[in-house]
Amino acid sequence: MSVRLADTPARPRVRTHELDAVVVGAGGAGLYAALELKRNLGPEARIGVISKLYPSRSHTGAAQGGVCAALGTTEEDHWEWHWFDTVKGGDYLVDQDAAEVMCHDAVETIINLEHLGMPFNRTEEGRIDQRRFGGHTRNEGEAPVRRACFAADRTGHAILQTLFQQCIRLDVAFYDEYQVLDLQMPDGPGGPVTGVVALQTSTSEIHSFRAKAVLFATGGFGKIFKVTSNAHTLTGDGVAIAYRRGLPLEDMEFFQFHPTGMYKLGFLLSEAMRGEGGFLVNGEGERFMERYAPTMKDLASRDVVSRSIYQEIAAGRGVGGKDFVHLDVRHLGAQVLNEKLPDMTGFIRTYFGLDPLTDLVPIQPTAHYAMGGIPTDIDGRVLADEVGRLVPGFYAAGECACVSVHGGNRLGTNSLLDILVFGRRAGIAMADEVRRAEAPVPDHAAEVGVAAQRDALLSRADGERPAVIRAELAEVMFSHCGVYRTGVLLEECRRCARFPRGDGGEPLVLLRRAAAQHDAKAAQHDGREEGPRVGDAPRFLHDERELDEPQARAALLLGEGQAQPAQLGHLAPELRAVALGVIEHRPHVLGLALLVERGADGVSQ
Ligand SMILES: Cc1cc2nc3c(=O)[nH]c(=O)nc-3n(C[C@H](O)[C@H](O)[C@H](O)COP(=O)(O)OP(=O)(O)OC[C@H]3O[C@@H](n4cnc5c(N)ncnc54)[C@H](O)[C@@H]3O)c2cc1C
Repeated sequence: MSVRLADTPARPRVRTHELDAVVVGAGGAGLYAALELKRNLGPEARIGVISKLYPSRSHTGAAQGGVCAALGTTEEDHWEWHWFDTVKGGDYLVDQDAAEVMCHDAVETIINLEHLGMPFNRTEEGRIDQRRFGGHTRNEGEAPVRRACFAADRTGHAILQTLFQQCIRLDVAFYDEYQVLDLQMPDGPGGPVTGVVALQTSTSEIHSFRAKAVLFATGGFGKIFKVTSNAHTLTGDGVAIAYRRGLPLEDMEFFQFHPTGMYKLGFLLSEAMRGEGGFLVNGEGERFMERYAPTMKDLASRDVVSRSIYQEIAAGRGVGGKDFVHLDVRHLGAQVLNEKLPDMTGFIRTYFGLDPLTDLVPIQPTAHYAMGGIPTDIDGRVLADEVGRLVPGFYAAGECACVSVHGGNRLGTNSLLDILVFGRRAGIAMADEVRRAEAPVPDHAAEVGVAAQRDALLSRADGERPAVIRAELAEVMFSHCGVYRTGVLLEECRRCARFPRGDGGEPLVLLRRAAAQHDAKAAQHDGREEGPRVGDAPRFLHDERELDEPQARAALLLGEGQAQPAQLGHLAPELRAVALGVIEHRPHVLGLALLVERGADGVSQ
């Protein structure tokens, strides 16, 4: 791989790498693509994987429960049944041809992965073991079927290690801890893509990677929500870069909430816990899923279970009247918990101090998975528009891409399958393009732009803190664009996002103030010195002096997360409606600040 250091007066100092293909992202999708690129182009091919994390820290490693394929190793199954479930689970918004490819290719993909060294759990006869997962059924909805292949509850970790080791064996070049900030597209949004520009995080140096084909496999963006199962790194970089470059995005409103996040923390307790026989109970000890999904019960698809939990909470059947219900796995016994679900058992012990063998586990839905993203065809080629024009040289796979195989709701275990099937197909298609493509034309404007962005950030003396803006957005996304989204809530959200950041008392200003106060309280609590001090902050909405008496009481109750519907009887009817709405969509101070500030007016709009 050649490296040059450009140093002319007109251009910033940029290190240049010339490769055949660049893969951005070292999760399952990126690594499988890199592997196929090497296999198809041979040992001389210059294939680089750029990752802002060390590869084995990619989020695929956090995937717990399994990866599905209709292997039928433990009971009868067919890929056509899997296909039916995928289309139905996605609320019939799935691209059915693409889903057919995924479900059909699944069987061969899992066997290939096993041949690469993947340590799947085995049956007593030595076959790949399989377990049940939500929404996967026998014969088009008759009953749950065992379709998820797994490696204990560390399936993603095992996949990541397997693929990483194979890439090292084939001499793929890794650029660890480089953050890609832009695409090279010298001729604009129509393409071609001729490389990427990245910041080396350890040195702040700008690197220009030129290549005949570029794959984005940058993962999801759960961190746009406050409570999420996603790691801090899942910030949607690839999707945002494509969007900034004028490319369309698809199905961005389809974001999945997983029913069993750990209460208040959001960490995931995989569906495998219910697949192994766990079930949900409400505050009255009732197995409520029997009412909402009589056949699949606790293994109904995630959107159904998440909505059911909210309906229970809204009806006052949350535990202790609060906004959570319980997961009961006590009956599974020590052997299943310790051998098949060891990580999750450990999470419950570590983070809650509870023993799942004897205690009920508090759960609430958590923001989990992006069904939407950069639109592609079934070979990972990025689409430039609704008529299917392609962007030459540009590919996307994995959670940042939208092949449209998950429609409005992804089935559990279909994501690891998606990253493997479409990561692999993208790698093969890229190899084909690399063979035919001409030498890439550099995009110096992109290099200059990234360097200017870096310099502006590093030299800035004042202004808003990006972390505060992000915290505001995460708050408002969680309260207004969660499991239930009403017209009123979305309208509030839209206004929040668009209001100017002046000091005019507009909703966004209110949000910022509330966030600043939280920040201040958190800093005080942790004994940290940075950040605003409590005394510095402007007055806040839930300061009693700014509100009339009932508003103040509702604000304080809700702000502290203590309000129950019964406590709001004394409020004016309109305000009570607002407060109930807040409770239903999970109360927190920012949503509250907006709603209470508007008071009765906000309701009648
Ligand atoms: C807790 C949890 C459990 C899950 N369990 C399951 C399960 O059991 N079964 C299932 O099917 N699915 C599961 N999923 C979903 C599944 O794990 C993910 O959708 C999938 O692993 C995403 O893989 P990926 O290759 O697309 O991206 P990731 O594995 O997230 O990798 C993204 C890569 O992109 C890199 N990157 C991002 N931005 C940049 C940038 N700007 N510059 C350079 N590099 C960048 C990162 O460093 C990383 O290497 C789970 C998800 C979570 C959160």
